[in-house]
This record gives sequence, C-alpha cells and structure tokens, in this order.
Amino acid sequence: MPNRPGDAFSKPSRLILLSTGGTIAMTAGAGLDGAALKLRAASLAAAVPQLEGLAALEMRDVLAKPSASFTLADIAAIARAAEDAAKTADGVVITHGTDTLEETAFALAMLAQIETPIVLTAAMRRSDQPGADGPANLLAAARVALCPAARGKGVLVVVDDEIHAGPLIRKAHSFRPHAFSSLPFGPIGYVAEERVRFALAPISHLPKLAYGGRAPVTPILEAGPGLEPRTVEALAAGAIDALVLSLPGAGHVAADVAPALGVLAERIPVVFASRTGAGETLRASYGYPGGEMDLIRRGLIPAQALDARKARIALQLLLSEGGDLARIRAVFELF
Ligand code: ASP
Repeated sequence: MPNRPGDAFSKPSRLILLSTGGTIAMTAGAGLDGAALKLRAASLAAAVPQLEGLAALEMRDVLAKPSASFTLADIAAIARAAEDAAKTADGVVITHGTDTLEETAFALAMLAQIETPIVLTAAMRRSDQPGADGPANLLAAARVALCPAARGKGVLVVVDDEIHAGPLIRKAHSFRPHAFSSLPFGPIGYVAEERVRFALAPISHLPKLAYGGRAPVTPILEAGPGLEPRTVEALAAGAIDALVLSLPGAGHVAADVAPALGVLAERIPVVFASRTGAGETLRASYGYPGGEMDLIRRGLIPAQALDARKARIALQLLLSEGGDLARIRAVFELF
C-alpha cells in the first residue's frame, strides 16, 4: 500500500519544523572557531525547496546548541514544543544534533506520547561540507512525518532514508555519514524517492513520565577490570542523587566492589545496565558475589533492556518528578 503524504487528509497537510541546533544547523566557522551554529529553522527549510510542495510549513526555533550541551530541562522543552506543535500540525519534524539524539528520542517517547508523528532528524556533515546530508535527511523526515502510516508509531528517527523507532536508536559511529543503528533490531522502514514504507510497527510499553523541574545528579560509572572499590566510595561521598552502572555482560561487577554498591543502594537508587549494547540484564543466572543475583539482593535495580545512557534519562525524569524508590523500581520493571 502506497502511504504517500496526504493520503488520509482531505485538508492540506501542515508540517511544523522545530530546530534545536546540532551539525545540521552548522556551517564552517571563521578561523579557529571550527563549526558554528548559524542556521535556524527557516534557513534549514529554505535549503530544501521540495518541502514547500509537501505541506504548509511553519518553522519554530526551540534551541540552538550542540546536543552534548542539552540539559534535562532542554529535552523537556523540546518535548513541550513537540506536543504544542502537534496541536495544529499533521506532522512534527525536529532537527537535532547527532551526539545525543538517542537520549532525546528515548525521553520524548516517554514525555510526548501522542498520535501525531514526531520525527527527529540530524546530519553528520555541515551544510558547507561536500556530501552534506542535512537537506536529504530533512526531506525524508518530512515525508515520514506527513505519512498517515506514521501516526501512532511513537517517536521516530529518520536518517539516511531509514526509519528507526526512537527508543531503539543509538549513534554507532563518530564521524561517518551512516552513523545510526537500531541493532540488534534494525530500521522499521525506509523512504524511497517520495514513498514512505513501513515494514514493521514498533511495540512500545514505555511508561508515560513527566519532567518535574529538578536536575538530579546521576553519574554513570562504567565498570570493568581494574575498577577500585574506592571509586564507588569516592562517588558515594559526593552529593549524588542516584548512580547508574554500566556493567560487563548481563550486569556483573568485581566481587570486592559489590559491598560498597550495596551500602550505597541503601541510601540512593543504584541502577545497573549491561554495557554490551544489546540484550538485557539478567536476574536469575549468576549468584556469585558481584553477579546480577547478588546485586539485586543488595538492593540494586536492573535496567533490563536499557543501556546506561537511557537508564540515566529515565532515572533523572523519575527523580525530577519526585519518584520514590518504590516507583522507580516499578517503572524499571517496564523496561
Ligand atoms: N556536535 C553535534 C551535535 O550537536 C554533532 C552532530 O550534530 O552531528 O550533536
């Protein structure tokens, strides 16, 4: 079935473009400045004249930052802007930096649970570089956002003519244009010329969360050979609100580090994720000291299928809305 923009709409389609910064909005800076953020939503759209033929366009500037500088409040502002835009648009496209696109896509999937398509896109190459990918990505994202079949599929990411489920994507290469992956699952569709094709539908059980205005201090500690128990003690002595661990395998840490983690987990939420990049934390396979069963017995919370970055976003949102340990445990059961 051809799902072309406008198929299901009797009125002209309306697309709102929200810009937040990132390489897609950068051009060469002068002298030693490197890339500089210069392009706002209007100039991003002007570089893609084909957009005019798709829908009535409205451009809104939400933020103008490299995405590594985004705070939780910034991400919440993007979610609000998307929900706002969805009140009057058939589709919403958000341009974003590639570096932390995965955190924003995951957060939006919990903060902005609406039927209207919200499609994030980005670029690996600046607008002034040969092979700049921003305009093609923006056009493909707009086609997806306006496609009736995209409704109700949750937050999507469109890059390189691939459609990804927002909560699954990650940046998997630091500089090459094909930088995004949803492994081990893969894209759920693609854009061929003007045609938007979905092969799969994401099943999302993500909880609806809110941003409560606090910015909880939630470091991520990656463990592996050589991790000193004193590292955990030093962190515990600081003013942290919660800790996320990125652990080898299915969630395993050195035996001599486990007791300090258990002591910390009596005081603040301590979540452990697998650092492998796929699969999930186990809960009933390894009972040795530092194994996942031992960590759970000590009060640590398994992140299940979330990696440490996504676990941190979920934990920060929960803490920001005043979630207590029982609520945090219950929500993490859903991941
Ligand atoms: N530094 C950029 C960012 O804002 C990188 C990019 O967009 O590719 O994430």
